[in-house]
Amino acid sequence: MKATKNYQFWFCTGSQDLYGDECLRKVADHSAKIVEALNATGKFPYEIVLKPTLIDQASIRKTFNMANNDENCAGVITWMHTFSPAKMWIIGLQEYKKPLCHLHTQFNEEIPYDSIDMDFMNENQSAHGDREYGHIVSRMGIERKIIVGHWANASVQDKLASWMRTAVGVMESSHIRVCRIGDNMNNVAVTEGDKVEAQIKFGWEIDHYNVNDAVDYVNAVSEGDVNALVDEYYSKYEILLEGRDAAEFRNHVAVQAQIEIGLEKFLEDGDYHAIVTHFGMLGGLKQLPGLAIQRLMEKGYGFGGEGDWKTAAMVRLMKIMTAGMKDAKGTSFMEDYTYNFVPGKEGILQAHMLEVCPTISDGPIGIKVNPLSMGNREDPARLVFTSKTGPGVATSLVDMGNRFRLLVNAVDCKKCEKEMPKLPVATAFWTPQPNLEVGAAAWIMAGGAHHTAFSYDLTVEQMVDWADAMGIESVVIDNNTDLRAFKNELKWNSMYYR
Ligand code: MN
Repeated sequence: MKATKNYQFWFCTGSQDLYGDECLRKVADHSAKIVEALNATGKFPYEIVLKPTLIDQASIRKTFNMANNDENCAGVITWMHTFSPAKMWIIGLQEYKKPLCHLHTQFNEEIPYDSIDMDFMNENQSAHGDREYGHIVSRMGIERKIIVGHWANASVQDKLASWMRTAVGVMESSHIRVCRIGDNMNNVAVTEGDKVEAQIKFGWEIDHYNVNDAVDYVNAVSEGDVNALVDEYYSKYEILLEGRDAAEFRNHVAVQAQIEIGLEKFLEDGDYHAIVTHFGMLGGLKQLPGLAIQRLMEKGYGFGGEGDWKTAAMVRLMKIMTAGMKDAKGTSFMEDYTYNFVPGKEGILQAHMLEVCPTISDGPIGIKVNPLSMGNREDPARLVFTSKTGPGVATSLVDMGNRFRLLVNAVDCKKCEKEMPKLPVATAFWTPQPNLEVGAAAWIMAGGAHHTAFSYDLTVEQMVDWADAMGIESVVIDNNTDLRAFKNELKWNSMYYR
């Protein structure tokens, strides 16, 4: 899977030519020190690049257009060190097309009580200048991330680093290409949607192929390549025969290895980054792709079951946003399946027929071969495991007919109370915030799907910022959710997003 680009973020300090060269020299020096110190923290997923101080309309316009045209630039971080009259910013902002951050900071952390004079105040007046700049960005209705605090503060740095991942999600959204080798499942509503509108809003290209176009690739895989991959599976995963004949079991696993290699080549040749299948439209495939899809998801591909291209694209997007993250806990396609309603132990068992990404696994991963209760194919091989504990976000992008809505639910992942020896699929278990009763009610009220794109490594804030950048509605279900207010929010949103 192709990694994302070596993106950079430009650091642009605003000032003006009123305070003299000495002041501007200090402004540039402070900006350089901040950028150097930020990069040296090692916290940022992408490099921050200092640009010359912006002091007039021409340099602002030129810099924003250079940012537009530099394919490695994923966003601009702006900060007004001194006052910078905001009319100078209008044309540049109008022409700027990439993610924008307003870092509302100041070079010095503390007021220098003993030495402060008017020169110092004129030089260090972001409290003043950033308000002027913020006014024009708001008046122009431009989406931006506002981060407030001293630049050396760990929490400020964490917020900036998180925003960078959102910005890369915004940049990369228009490169997401989804390959459908199965249509929407008969009569299912929530996985449907307007693909043209999705391309307009998100830049996603969603194409359909006859499944047998992919089958040709699968059939073309050499026996040697299949055997080598099966050997890799057998060295990496526990083989859970559960009474099946060992040779027959291996043959079933080999079918998935052949599908993995064939599908990956098919996706690479078409430059696709996400795929949807349908258990009822398998053409010449001998098994529903299970283990094969799980491995592709692990490599960074998006996936949605039963033709669900929206969730496939979201899984891919969220994998891009978490790319290269240290100690990442995983991102997967998921489905709400079964409840535990026992008081004090409430939660939702998450799984799918087969296709759960092994990046979210906790502990050993096994391979099982079991019948699928749906479809008419061989018993498919699949990876089985349980998942990590801790906070995560479950997202659902739904088409409300006249707009897209992104639901973002903060969830608390837990271990299942007991093992489930007869359940032959990978699982997770979580309690939606604020609790199952309110969380599920809000989810249903907002029209959320049974499929989700789930990640341990992203926050509600990052997903909401992404939705804002895309110009779509987002609704959050978390510990602050109150059903009465939530219902009103949906009503008000329906007026705004019409
Ligand atoms: Mn499903």
